[in-house]
Amino acid sequence: MEGLMQDWPLLVHTILDHAAKYHGDREVVSRSVEGPIHRCTYRDIDRRSRKLASALSKRGVELGDILGTMAWNGYRHMETWYAVMGLGAVVHTVNPRLFADQLDYIINHGEDELFFLDLTFVPVLEKIQDTIPKVKSFIIMTDEEHMPDTSLREAVCYETLLAEGDGDFQWPSFDENTASTMCYTSGTTGNPKGVLYSHRSNVLHAMAVCAGDALALKSTDTIMPVVPMFHANAWSLVFSTPMSGAKFVLPGAQMDGASIYELLDTEKVTFTAAVPTIWLMLLQHLEQTGEKLPALERVVIGGSACPPAMIETFERNYDAQVIHAWGMTETSPLGTLCVTKGGLEDLDADAAWQIKLKQGRVPYTVDLRIEDDDGNALAWDGKAFGHLKIKGPGVAKGYFKSEGGDILDRDGFFSTGDVSTMDEHGYMQITDRSKDVIKSGGEWISSIDLENIAVGHPDVTEAAVVGIAHPKWDERPLLVIVRREGSEVSGEDVLKFMDGKIAKWWMPDDVAFVDEIPHTATGKISKLHLRQQFEGYVLPTANAAE
Ligand code: ADP
Repeated sequence: MEGLMQDWPLLVHTILDHAAKYHGDREVVSRSVEGPIHRCTYRDIDRRSRKLASALSKRGVELGDILGTMAWNGYRHMETWYAVMGLGAVVHTVNPRLFADQLDYIINHGEDELFFLDLTFVPVLEKIQDTIPKVKSFIIMTDEEHMPDTSLREAVCYETLLAEGDGDFQWPSFDENTASTMCYTSGTTGNPKGVLYSHRSNVLHAMAVCAGDALALKSTDTIMPVVPMFHANAWSLVFSTPMSGAKFVLPGAQMDGASIYELLDTEKVTFTAAVPTIWLMLLQHLEQTGEKLPALERVVIGGSACPPAMIETFERNYDAQVIHAWGMTETSPLGTLCVTKGGLEDLDADAAWQIKLKQGRVPYTVDLRIEDDDGNALAWDGKAFGHLKIKGPGVAKGYFKSEGGDILDRDGFFSTGDVSTMDEHGYMQITDRSKDVIKSGGEWISSIDLENIAVGHPDVTEAAVVGIAHPKWDERPLLVIVRREGSEVSGEDVLKFMDGKIAKWWMPDDVAFVDEIPHTATGKISKLHLRQQFEGYVLPTANAAE
């Protein structure tokens, strides 16, 4: 027997309908690429998204087309998302920080026909336009006044295009499983692979992360995603913020500490999210200037492991709660969030702190398991670590054009490539990526644990640990460090600091100092490049073969 409830497909445009109708006056503030701060409301975004959708549909855009974007977080990018998805077409966000050959690959593989870009990226696309022949027209996200002189073929001014449209355009209805957005994983091995989200997965994921025990987004919040819209859907915030009716702040191209501070301060942001490298820059700025952020309540830190020292600084010095989160492009992306669990409120300070450092626990719609190499489930005791697998309506079941083949196991779980523990309360802690873990004498050493301890030293700005070949132990850890400016701290000092905080056999065999640690296009430490940089490195322990 079927239930007698209304059929209301979970389409992304319903989020904007809701925001415009019930929170229409709430502001959307953007640092524009042209310079000034731009202010509008959800009502404006709704009307302009409809205009853009209407103009695009007049130009033949229809269900199933794929349109590319290379743009910062800003109101025009947000409008483009809602307009394109509202038509049942797909927004393919392209990360501008990728190398030119990767850009060609994913734009060609994605078969983008129209391509939206911010002014910043005109030179980037001019350079590669001949190698992306399927793109018929480039839409430059600016007004007539700022239109550049460009060699891009069929270059169109965004505001001119938008003016062709009708603000009363009615969204078409279609199946909620229709594709909505596409995002390529950076592909540390092999070619990047396209993760193709659906309206249903985007809406369900946004609802799950809005929940009280997840990000707890409220209409009284002011939310600023520093994480870019081209990095795994800005962790859902372009959907979950209008869903909650909160004020929205979009920081544009400037992500240095001073610029981020300025927006957090002037707009009285209560909630923000980004990878640890961004927060490192903000914290350095705050330390240098002595400024505070009294409005800030919650900071989401994810994308790579958040060092305990960073959590401590935000919570103790700036009175902002850190929510450590884990996820992947393939998981929409939020998989776990570290928030307190009912029944654990009375843990003593040390036990609560140990939990705080973990990547967290799942919201409804996510299921996890950990397995050994033979696929046997491991105990949830906080100690046993193994391959982390994930399942849910926001988790990919395959990649675009079937790249990578079948990616689910017999039980429908996706293997994350991460190694983790689970504790008895359901909190997950990442030990490492399986390819980064250091295999020493048949045992595993967690590079993340070593990095977290090393950055706790006051003279260490950033730390990365890679495995170096060793004649006796296969691999031993090398600690690579960026010193705090002006510091002369020695490797011996740092090792002394780490001594006693980990098992003796986990201690790095050597310390190397560098001016900069390489990062990936999504701001993570690039172990791949670091391993290349230290290829052939001889550890002092190698000759002694101790
Ligand atoms: P890419 O592989 O392109 O960097 P993702 O952003 O999808 O793309 O990366 C997902 C990976 O990032 C996870 O599999 C995990 O290794 C790492 N990661 C994400 N969040 C965390 C976290 N909080 N702690 C440790 N690792 C994390």
